[in-house]
Amino acid sequence: MKLPVAEGAAVRARTVRLFSRHRRTLVVVAVLHTVAAVAGLAGPWLLGLLVDDVTQGTTSSSVNTLVAIGAVAVVAQAVLRRYAQRSSMVFGETVFAELREELVDTVTSLPLSTVERAGTGDLVARTTNDVDRIQHAVRFGVPQLLVSVVTIVLTVVASLFVDPLVALALFVGVPLLVVAARWYLERAAPGYQREAAAYATLNGTITESVEGARTVDALALSGKRRARVHADLREAFAAERYTLGLRTVLFPGIDVSVAIAPIAVVVWGAWLISQGHATLGAVTTIAMYGFQLAGPVWNLIFWLDEIQVALASFARIVGVSLVHADRSAKDAAPTDEHVVADQVEYAYRAGRPVLHGVSLDLDPGERLAVVGPSGAGKSTLGRMLAGIHPPTAGTVTVGGVPLVDLPLSDLRRHVALVTQEHHVFVGSVAENLRLAKVEADDAELLGALEAVDARNWVEALPRGLETEVGSGGYVLTPAQAQQVALARLVLLDPHTLVLDEATSLLDPRAARHLERSLNGVLEGRTVVAIAHRLHTAHDADRVAVVDEGRISEIGPHDELVAANGDYARLWHSWQQE
Ligand code: ADP
Repeated sequence: MKLPVAEGAAVRARTVRLFSRHRRTLVVVAVLHTVAAVAGLAGPWLLGLLVDDVTQGTTSSSVNTLVAIGAVAVVAQAVLRRYAQRSSMVFGETVFAELREELVDTVTSLPLSTVERAGTGDLVARTTNDVDRIQHAVRFGVPQLLVSVVTIVLTVVASLFVDPLVALALFVGVPLLVVAARWYLERAAPGYQREAAAYATLNGTITESVEGARTVDALALSGKRRARVHADLREAFAAERYTLGLRTVLFPGIDVSVAIAPIAVVVWGAWLISQGHATLGAVTTIAMYGFQLAGPVWNLIFWLDEIQVALASFARIVGVSLVHADRSAKDAAPTDEHVVADQVEYAYRAGRPVLHGVSLDLDPGERLAVVGPSGAGKSTLGRMLAGIHPPTAGTVTVGGVPLVDLPLSDLRRHVALVTQEHHVFVGSVAENLRLAKVEADDAELLGALEAVDARNWVEALPRGLETEVGSGGYVLTPAQAQQVALARLVLLDPHTLVLDEATSLLDPRAARHLERSLNGVLEGRTVVAIAHRLHTAHDADRVAVVDEGRISEIGPHDELVAANGDYARLWHSWQQE
């Protein structure tokens, strides 16, 4: 279940939307390039005039004038080019920046269930490799394409204007050019994709072999690994050879069709002159234009190729935004803080439910411990109760409103899931905390830290709340990172918390300290604790035993022990340990 890849129509629509937002800039850029290209056309035209003048006899002052105009045109072209290039680069950067921002927005609001199903690898590849691949095309390719097209069109128009009959010869190479370019472009995208995939596989194989060198050695797999590297190399070689083959057709094809234009102009023009149908000056001008076309034509084909490759990446990036939301916020407001699960079913894979009609009525303020063998569905139930995934069937409601009908920002103010995964973001401690509540002032942040017993060490940091943490900054211990995560919860202030093994990863001493922090957070809230240590169960108001996706028993600890069922057995065996 990979993330979708956008179809041609969606990619086109998105491209148009991206560029139409900058229609005015695009027009300015195009105009600047046009004017620069026009200035560039002056040289050959003046040369043509000069040739005709000299042929017919002229004065040195008129020659001087023409040369002076030519010099001005060259300077004008240089200056205009500079501004045209600058504006088109700024344009490319702007579009690329927007694209990146949109992608971040999309990625951060993707439904978790989709990301989990598709695997994070795919998403990471799209946000890194694919973005890299299109950045060159957007930054340089789009502006260059624009310049090439404008220059080619204007040069051809100018040639036709000077002498349409002579200009006909410019088109001699076009059929060959079209055939070669089409042949190449049809094969290039799949060819280069195969090459990229072959190198990715090769990298993967080598990295795995190196990282798992001990295992490879211990299990005497080196022969197999080497064979695999060789197979990958052969594929990379074949892919590379194929694209090389494509280029060995394209390059001579373009070369011949571009080089043939000025030659054809000279030959055809000489005949026309001999017949009295053209002037030497016109032939000179158009032959020079023929030379000038070579650069932009090469550029055009080069960038068409790059852009084609980039479009494949762009389709994957646009694809991310085509993921359907797994919920749509409605405006019903919960009437109270009462969380109820009714006949909840959930299947990670269609047709394979791991929860079968679980119903649970949480009394506001109670502590419920959820116990059971591993794989029974405890975490899945926790995720349902926290509204992480919409249930496949049944509902989880708070105050009568299904959790998945609440806007995400509201949802987290009602129910939050606390897991052992926590992340310290790059930024200050304060910024890390304000993720939960943007408008909180420093006093509120310190209050939250105090509630989780973390105020002292934060205030002892070199710059207190403003200390930079996360990758590259001050390194927090796992316990401190967890306290920061808990302080975020205090700021978020949900009335119901689902704890999924919140402290089990830590060493026991840190865990005891953290439990104090945690108790500060749990105070006065409804708590569902997915318990691995049974003493949590003992202290809870009620215990639910989950087995094979069902709640097999639920009730206060003492009652369950007295009932002598599953829980009683778990409890006794734990006590014996
Ligand atoms: P517990 O928390 O009781 O150990 P879980 O809720 O984690 O149980 O898992 C219940 C079942 O759902 C298990 O069979 C597990 O393999 C499956 N499961 C859990 N997470 C996923 C997932 N992301 N994708 C597919 N199956 C999953």
